Amino acid sequence: MSFLHYDLCIIGGGINGAGIARDAAGRGLSVLLVEAQDLAGATSSASSKLIHGGLRYLEHREFALVRTALHERDILLNTAPHLVYPVQCVFLQDTSLRSKWLMRLGLWLYDNMGGKNSLPKSKIISFSADDSYSKPLSNDVKDGIIYSDCTADDTRLVILNAVDATARGARILTHTECESLSVIDGKWRVGLRDTRSGDTLKVNASMVVNASGPWVGKFLDSVGIGAEELTLPKVRLVKGSHIILPRQYEGDHIYVIQRPDKRIVFAMPYQDEYTLIGTTEEDYEGNPRDAQISDDEMSYLCEAVNSVFSKNILPSDALFTFSGVRPLLDDDGVDSSEVSREYMIYHHKGFDPPLLSVFGGKLTTYRALSEAVVNKLMRLSGRTAKGWSAKEPLAGGDIAGKSLDEFIAAQKLIYPWLEQGLLRRYARSYGARMDMFLANARSMVDLGAHYGDQVFAVELDYLIKYEWVSCVDDVIWRRSKLGLYVSGETMRNIEAAFNESGNV
Ligand SMILES: Cc1cc2nc3c(=O)[nH]c(=O)nc-3n(C[C@H](O)[C@H](O)[C@H](O)COP(=O)(O)OP(=O)(O)OC[C@H]3O[C@@H](n4cnc5c(N)ncnc54)[C@H](O)[C@@H]3O)c2cc1C
Repeated sequence: MSFLHYDLCIIGGGINGAGIARDAAGRGLSVLLVEAQDLAGATSSASSKLIHGGLRYLEHREFALVRTALHERDILLNTAPHLVYPVQCVFLQDTSLRSKWLMRLGLWLYDNMGGKNSLPKSKIISFSADDSYSKPLSNDVKDGIIYSDCTADDTRLVILNAVDATARGARILTHTECESLSVIDGKWRVGLRDTRSGDTLKVNASMVVNASGPWVGKFLDSVGIGAEELTLPKVRLVKGSHIILPRQYEGDHIYVIQRPDKRIVFAMPYQDEYTLIGTTEEDYEGNPRDAQISDDEMSYLCEAVNSVFSKNILPSDALFTFSGVRPLLDDDGVDSSEVSREYMIYHHKGFDPPLLSVFGGKLTTYRALSEAVVNKLMRLSGRTAKGWSAKEPLAGGDIAGKSLDEFIAAQKLIYPWLEQGLLRRYARSYGARMDMFLANARSMVDLGAHYGDQVFAVELDYLIKYEWVSCVDDVIWRRSKLGLYVSGETMRNIEAAFNESGNV
């Protein structure tokens, strides 16, 4: 019996799996990525959406991590300008928690560690009644420091890495779980199961990467490898939750709120009409898919907001919540907020052909991690192709050196008939790829059936064809955040469109 053969099989379609698939396909490997559910269906859609150095990791003396992350922040700003945007962060001073000189030193390092970049340097501010930063704050908050970082659409970052990988020849199977791994005739025999139909399939691969995020250890156990590996790093699962409120303040800036336990909580504008508050850190033992906000986390986030904003909030004000589980490298015993966000690429040396497992990491450092994984695979397989992803725009990111605002202005000239809010949403979601479904349209009528709430057939057709959507939730929660706005009727119309297209 013959089996399809790939140079590399990647298990897990979060940011790390998708980034590795893109990098490896771009270096000429034949790549298969399998994702048990939907792409970005787990941790990678539940982050705080920050592409950042991680100011507070300086306190833990994680200088190398911060330097790498700041460097990656610059790379992503250049290569994914449609998804990664600069943002001003307003750090609210509380000298009983961190002294002014410590903050100034930290921010001086933060400004200078990342090398040259175009982001504004940090500055100290005193809040006064007429300044826009002070408007939502209570009178007790007197001073702050403004510094620069970036935010991103985490889910779209995963999807567009997968799209890019496919354009370079990778094959991506969603709703496909890897349930067995064995070495036969010097190759990996990978057992796969379609999680919707139950159908099974076996493929061969010369190399395997386990990028299953919070399942990294469980996966190894399930295929009988974990027990044999005595030096395997320990993973600590730490849940983090966010709440989404109606917009609490004007402006594009983020507030950084210090808490008495030394953690920090972010309040940030989200999807134009909302404010996102997060995150918490709670050790977690259950299935990462079942993670939900607890009453304690809800109270913690509300208390953080109420400690600095003049308008108090209650748990019942939260319109939506989401929780994710960080798979952190276990430092044994330290507080969960102090556990390192570094990653480790573990080579299972007892096996030939190669098997690597990815432990830990951050959204921000996924590209560097992916490059390091593929460098290692290149060495192990005797290949020489060099890393390339630091310079090449991500799918949709080829917007001719323009900033997102400049790109949007240029697109308005090309599509003057397109409703402005919709054009902005398309530009921020798809970048230059929006032309793929708009190029032949000359008026709103050409966008096809309108399912409601500015969701048109051309977009849905594009998503079905290029972005692996197969149900309403894929469309409204992961390929977009339309779920925050759309009516039940729009959802039913999208569902009906799926039924008609036979793509359910
Ligand atoms: C609350 C929170 C906030 C965060 N905020 C930030 C932030 O602001 N900035 C930042 O840089 N980082 C942040 N992070 C960290 C970042 O989100 C994670 O490091 C990153 O998303 C992990 O990606 P991953 O690909 O390793 O895992 P995941 O995204 O979880 O992907 C793993 C995938 O593997 C699949 N899988 C598992 N088993 C199998 C199998 N047997 N077969 C096939 N597929 C399988 C799963 O379905 C899953 O989709 C945050 C994390 C959390 C939890």
